[in-house]
Order: sequence, then structure tokens, then C-alpha cells
Amino acid sequence: MTKKTGWVLGVGLLVAALALTWLSSPRLQFTVGGGLVNLGYRLQDRFGRFDFTHDESITPEQIWEELVRQNELAAGVRDFFPRSVRHPVVAILACMDARIDTSELVGDTRRYYYVVRTAGSVLSPAEQEMLELAVLNGVQVVVLTTHTDCAAEAAAASPELREKFPALISLMDERERRIEEFKARPTIRDAIAAGKLEIKHARIDTDSDRLVLTE
Ligand SMILES: [Zn+2]
Repeated sequence: MTKKTGWVLGVGLLVAALALTWLSSPRLQFTVGGGLVNLGYRLQDRFGRFDFTHDESITPEQIWEELVRQNELAAGVRDFFPRSVRHPVVAILACMDARIDTSELVGDTRRYYYVVRTAGSVLSPAEQEMLELAVLNGVQVVVLTTHTDCAAEAAAASPELREKFPALISLMDERERRIEEFKARPTIRDAIAAGKLEIKHARIDTDSDRLVLTE
């Protein structure tokens, strides 16, 4: 072995030892995993032409077949990596807008949080019950979000669309009141008073995925 080869080998072993030490930290492994997931997202982002909507001739049946094929692929990978035990401590209310990906938003693909999605993040009594159920299951932070460039907000501002979607628009008009109603539910009110629950309000910047606290 030459002196140079020895140096390279030594430095290589040192880097490998340091990497192993760092990777033994769960937080670091989690962060590295998140980085790899993000890399995957960025790789897929570029393939706009694989988007279903860009092929006018594609039929609903072909779209379904493609979804099934993708699911088979994903489920095949899952077979090798069974799910870990989960204990979600966060619940998120978000708009159904397809651009918002809650995994990307919080850098966590394990679904370590509950997600309730409605157009315009409306919160009818049914969704309030869903979030309350999440709190009973151990959730300590509820994040109520809205987002920029929201089609439901635009609909609420359009006389024509207000007429076309009366049920949705009435819930949009009541959004703030429904939030107060949710906070006043006994389970929620008591959990907040006991310091076991926090309700956060945030607006998602749809382009950057950044959560901007609004309260
Ligand atoms: Zn929206």
C-alpha cells in the first residue's frame, strides 16, 4: 500500500465512522430521510408531461389503470418496509387543493399527523367532530390552515359561483364562526384550558409550501 492510498483509506474510514455515528441519531436519520423524499419529489416535479391532464386523449379507464399500477408499485415497496407504530400528535385542517401536499408541508411522509381536507378548509360540525376525535386520540396541536390562490375563496367572491355552490359558500362565509364553535366544544375547550392542546392558525403559501402563522 502506498502512502497516498493509506491516507485515502484512512480518511474514508474516518468519514464512514462519523457518518455511522451521526446516522445512529434518530433525528439525523429522520432528516436524511426527509431530504431523500424531497429529492424524489423534485425529480417527479420535472415530469410535467406525465401529468394525466396533459394528454387529452386519455380515458377515465386508462387513468384508473395507471393509478392501480402506481399503487401496486407503492404497495410492493411497502411489503419490504412494514409500517412503524404511529402515535399522531398533530392534526391539520387543509384545503383539498391538489397543489398542497401535507407530507411535503411538514417534511414527514409517515403520516404522523391526522389530516382533514375540505374545499376552502371549511369546518362544518362533521369536520369539527373529526378533529375532536383526533384530540381524543392524543393530538396536542391542531393546525387550522387556509392557503393563497384558493379556488374556494375565489368562488366565495364570485356572484355567479356563489349561486352555483350555495352549501359550500355558506360554509365559507361561516368559516371564522365555525372555528370559534370548534374551540368552544367542551373537549376542546377543556384540553386548551389544561394546557394539553394548542390551536394554531396558518396560511399556506401555495407556491413555497411555507406555513405563515396568522394568529
Ligand atoms: Zn383552496
